[in-house]
Order: sequence, then structure tokens, then C-alpha cells
Amino acid sequence: MALHTSFRVGGPADLYVEPLSVEECIETIRLAQECSLPWIVLGEGSNVLVADGGIEGVVISTLRICRITIEGTLLTAEAGTKVDSVVKASCEVGLGGLEFLSGMPGSVGGAVWMNARCYGSEVSEVLEHVAYLDEFLELQTLHVTHPTGGESEGEVSQTAGFGYKKSPFQGKPWIILHATFRLTPEDPRVLQEKIQQYRQDREKKGHYLAPSAGSVFKNDRSFGEPAGVILDRMGFKGVRIGDAEVSPLHANIILNRGTARASDIRTLVERMQEAVHRAYGRTLEPEILFIGRWES
Ligand SMILES: Cc1cc2nc3c(=O)[nH]c(=O)nc-3n(C[C@H](O)[C@H](O)[C@H](O)COP(=O)(O)OP(=O)(O)OC[C@H]3O[C@@H](n4cnc5c(N)ncnc54)[C@H](O)[C@@H]3O)c2cc1C
Repeated sequence: MALHTSFRVGGPADLYVEPLSVEECIETIRLAQECSLPWIVLGEGSNVLVADGGIEGVVISTLRICRITIEGTLLTAEAGTKVDSVVKASCEVGLGGLEFLSGMPGSVGGAVWMNARCYGSEVSEVLEHVAYLDEFLELQTLHVTHPTGGESEGEVSQTAGFGYKKSPFQGKPWIILHATFRLTPEDPRVLQEKIQQYRQDREKKGHYLAPSAGSVFKNDRSFGEPAGVILDRMGFKGVRIGDAEVSPLHANIILNRGTARASDIRTLVERMQEAVHRAYGRTLEPEILFIGRWES
């Protein structure tokens, strides 16, 4: 799995499949179910830490299911489309709304699943609807309603089930197939400038220095300050276990400096959590997902 994750660590999956279509994806899951094999869907693997022991069962990658269609101000992208490709396609035709995601690794499926967010915006804000397969492999559509400000008391008008790094897809065996975003006409040159600014900011913060999975911990607002600021104050920048190193530029990012093992990264994560717990009595919640055969 080191080949299929942004951390570039992790042992092998028993089976790794890249379906070319939704039909092939369904067929793969049916076969896995018939053989009583566990399965998991991944996009770019940019928010996961796979154990050195690998993953039991079938890993289904969406990356080859990646068409984009645009009708008016609605852009639909299949789950495996890279977020950066969607940003590029929308900006080329002068549609704004997704540029805040510029330079963020990941697929559309992963971004919807995580409700990815940065620079004060999150994916759910521009989502119109999401097509997915439910636990019975039946096609379903989640329509996202946005608050208009005119709701009466008790009326539900929320970006249903979405929140900070939270989506209705978490904890469910559902497969996101495609997402439709409602965008806004904007000058392509202005959009291009914004894209470059976001990308430069990520470069400055060292996002592309070495393999990583972006922020290690969520930013719990009750802490009053970002996880990175707390960890920086506690002297974690540059702390290393094997080839796993807390970024010298951003204390909430762990880098793989070459041959880090998943266990090195996880031990570093736990050390950071323990230190913050001792100092503040609070537990930092990991944003990265630990998947696969962990020993304990
Ligand atoms: C350098 C760097 C910077 C980053 N910056 C940010 C940032 O600014 N903001 C942010 O939010 N994140 C950031 N991330 C984390 C990551 O890029 C995002 O969370 C991204 O949305 C994950 O997408 P993915 O395709 O890689 O998901 P994966 O890592 O492949 O999967 C993540 C989860 O989504 C599920 N999933 C994926 N696709 C599907 C699908 N089709 N159907 C059902 N479930 C699915 C998986 O099962 C898994 O549970 C960063 C990562 C890196 C490496």
C-alpha cells in the first residue's frame, strides 16, 4: 500500500483492485462478499496511515473512475477524480467555488467523505448532491440543502449530516460514486490567481516537502487554538522517530523522510497526544485514519 498512499508507507493488501467502471466496482464488492472477504474503498490514500502489516481483504481504488461533466453551473465529477483536476476544469470554464481546494491531494470521493476543508471553506458548502451505493448496493442520492437564513424554528435546513471534518458517509458501508457541485460564474483569470495563491501558501507551509497525510490532528475548537500551535509550543517541530519526523515548518504534519515505518509514525502520533494530554488534560483527535492490520 506504500505505492497507493501519500505517506508512502504500509504493507500489502491481500487484494488490490482498480475497477474501470461503477459496474466493475459493484462486481468486485459482490465477489468479495461471496468470498466473505472484508473490503474498503480508497481514493488517493492521502488521509490514511496503513499498518506495516498491510490490509486484510480487498482494497478497491476509485482512481480510474474519474470523468468530469459540466452543465451550466453544475459540475459533476466521478469519485476517483483528483480534486486538483476538478479545480482546474472548473476554473478553465470560469466557474468558481472549488478553488480553495487547489493543491490539496485526494479524490472527490475522499473529499466528500472527509468534508475536506481549508482556507475557511468546506466541500459541503458547494455540494448539490451525491450519488452513492448503499449497503445493499442500491443507487441512492443525497441532496444537500443549504441554510437560506429564512428557516423557522425546528426546520431542518442544514448541510445534512455535514460538519467539521464530518459527513453522513462516515461509519457507513456506502460507496460514493459521483458528486455534483453548484458553482458560480467568475473570471477565469481571477480564479487562476487564487489557485496560484493557495498553492504557494501550501508550498510555504511545507505541504510538499516529503510524503505526508496533511494534518495529523483535527483542530478541536474547544482548545482555543490550532493543534499545530499547541504542538509547536511544546517543541515538537523536528522531533523524529526513525524516518518519521514532525515537519520543521508545521507541527501538525508528520513527514516520511525516506523509509519511515507506519509504526514509527503511529508512535510519534501517540507521543504527541500523550504530551498534550499531560500538559492540557485534553486529547487531540487524529484526523488521519489508521487502517489495516495494527498489532494492538
Ligand atoms: C500535503 C497534504 C495536504 C492536505 N491538506 C488538506 C487540507 O487542507 N484539508 C483537508 O481537509 N485535508 C487535507 N489533506 C488530507 C486529504 O488530502 C483529504 O482528506 C482528502 O480529501 C482525502 O481524499 P482521498 O481520496 O485521499 O481519501 P482516502 O485517504 O483514500 O480515504 C479517506 C477516507 O475516505 C473514504 N473514501 C474515499 N473514497 C471513497 C468513496 N468513493 N466512497 C466511500 N468512501 C470513500 C475511505 O474509505 C477513507 O475512509 C491533505 C493531505 C496531504 C497529503
